[in-house]
Amino acid sequence: MTRKFNFSAGPAALPEEVLLQAQAELLDWHDKGLSIMEMSHRSAEYVGVAAQAEQDLRDLMGIPGNYKVLFLQGGATAQFGMVPMNLLRGAESADYINTGVWSKKAIKEAQRYGKVNVVASTEANSFTSAPTQSELQLDPNAAYLHYTTNETIGGVEFDYIPDSSDVPLVADMSSDILSAPIDVSRFGLIYAGAQKNIGPAGLTVVIVRDDLVGQVLPGTPSMYDYKVHADADSMNNTPPTFGWYLAGLVFQWLKRQGGVEAMAELNRRKAAKLYAAIDGSDFYANPVAINNRSIMNVPFTLADAALDKRFLELADAEGLLNLKGHRSVGGMRASIYNAVPEAAVDALIDFMQRFEKEQA
Ligand SMILES: *Cc1c(COP(=O)(O)O)cnc(C)c1O
Repeated sequence: MTRKFNFSAGPAALPEEVLLQAQAELLDWHDKGLSIMEMSHRSAEYVGVAAQAEQDLRDLMGIPGNYKVLFLQGGATAQFGMVPMNLLRGAESADYINTGVWSKKAIKEAQRYGKVNVVASTEANSFTSAPTQSELQLDPNAAYLHYTTNETIGGVEFDYIPDSSDVPLVADMSSDILSAPIDVSRFGLIYAGAQKNIGPAGLTVVIVRDDLVGQVLPGTPSMYDYKVHADADSMNNTPPTFGWYLAGLVFQWLKRQGGVEAMAELNRRKAAKLYAAIDGSDFYANPVAINNRSIMNVPFTLADAALDKRFLELADAEGLLNLKGHRSVGGMRASIYNAVPEAAVDALIDFMQRFEKEQA
């Protein structure tokens, strides 16, 4: 068996150590004679696994005690609707920052429930930067301010946390949660689909401040009410037990690596190398403003798009997988999440340099 280097944007690479542990425990979890997947979510054993995963995430992110941590389903996409359903709370409108594909989807869904003010948009520069704080036309009466910390497709990441004053700040952190330390107390709500930087698809993590829970729009199905999930410790119905367990293994792995501080240092080094290789050549290019370049998703184009197919074929043959850019932007994209080792980035850079020479 050979494990190749996986640059997929999501579902994405998982730490090999975690996969080996899951494999070792798969048939017989902790001498119980059955798999974790076959266990009741109400059993003492499973409740222990679930609680430990929550505690480890709280430790890693420094989540204050007045925040609930929810383990839900429906992906980040369900949160595009759940956020307005739960957080509009009678206000006339919510503020949204538009920095790319994922922000736009969040905006579109929120418009089904209330008025959306787009307080800044970088669409005019083809989403190659994030707006600065002074560019945000914030409404002090907005129900909340929503933004996407890292645009997974455009490779655009905020280099600051917007100051929304007393308006709760809501962040889609699907593709950069746990990539670097953040001050959770600055946020009203954080959500992330698991399949980028946490675990397998099918699990969504929501971190929400207590006072924002419990005022849903009339008619909201109970499965879309944060309070229902908070009151039931995310077990209002059968949760995605395997995903939650595996996320817990990833959290423990992160702790063994030295936590998010250590990951941030490694992530910055990985990204810096790759951007340096791109900038140091006339053959590769990345259009994103330097201070907004994502440390998780690195899109790049070749000087001649006609070479894309050959680049991908040769990369694939060398065991460098899933480098094709999103269909909406073309070119390449290397997603270098926590679980993608530095050796993968080194191998990619080496390949890129050889490919460029071959074309000269
Ligand atoms: C992948 C992604 C989504 C969509 O996630 P699903 O789990 O497929 O719903 C939303 N926002 C961001 C930033 C993403 O990267």
